[in-house]
Amino acid sequence: MAQPTIFERIIDGEVPARIVYETADVCAFLDAQPLAPGHTLVVPTTAVARLAELDADAHAALFAAVRTLTPRVEAAVEADAMTVGINDGTAAGQEVPHVHVHLIPRFSDDDAGSIHAITAERPTVSDASADAIAAAIRP
Ligand code: AMP
Repeated sequence: MAQPTIFERIIDGEVPARIVYETADVCAFLDAQPLAPGHTLVVPTTAVARLAELDADAHAALFAAVRTLTPRVEAAVEADAMTVGINDGTAAGQEVPHVHVHLIPRFSDDDAGSIHAITAERPTVSDASADAIAAAIRP
């Protein structure tokens, strides 16, 4: 069996964390290496790596918690906005293979940019290629 991730160990109470929200389905705690004051991780208690591996109920509970926590975190640190993000998979920068949503408080003067700052250069995608991609995504 795979070793439990650090997040399972936090959920199980083996590793200390600043837990801010806890239900049977979701646990949220402050990030140990915050990108901003109040940086919070919202984690399903179901230990799967990728978002698509969560069943519909776990997925709904996760995003209900995101909805509940976003204004609370924002108010706690008097932020102006929130970047809500998931590194979904290793190639996307995911380091802990247990789904988690980052709530990163944002301030009007933080100069951190938007999620569009992920790539310095944008790829050229032809109309034909965009049409084919859209077709492949549609049910
Ligand atoms: P990601 O790259 O999306 O997998 O992000 C993993 C996040 O988990 C990083 O922001 C880490 O700072 C955070 N992290 C790792 N270990 C802990 C821990 N023990 N307690 C709180 N946050 C952690």
